[in-house]
Amino acid sequence: MNNIKLRPHHLLCISFFKGKGYSHDFVKNMAMVISDLRRPNSTVTIVNESDDICKACPNNIDSRCTTQDKVDRYDNSLLALCNLSVGQTLTYSALKQLVYEKILSCNKRTQICGDCEWSNICK
Ligand code: SF4
Repeated sequence: MNNIKLRPHHLLCISFFKGKGYSHDFVKNMAMVISDLRRPNSTVTIVNESDDICKACPNNIDSRCTTQDKVDRYDNSLLALCNLSVGQTLTYSALKQLVYEKILSCNKRTQICGDCEWSNICK
């Protein structure tokens, strides 16, 4: 089975990914992660550290994000809205459904990451 480590707010980044990102390598890796997630029965373990998307990001310096406070805020908001905790492992399809029900379908995304530099893409 395919298990992927994700920071919580990356569930939103994945939902709106349109082939743009911080660098060529970042975009390539992001597309690969999304492709893996779409395999049947893929699971996700929720982490509060550098994940499978961060690993190819130029903002990931020594396994720490250069905007750590901001991404921690995004992560904690998503966890609270979806009633999830760090360390949980769920199927990607269950997580996707949860994010849709608790955030996207009720227009709460901007409460989480409305000040992100990519926010205009995520509509
Ligand atoms: S290192 Fe920071 S900016 Fe880069 S993907 Fe991870 S959380 Fe996002």
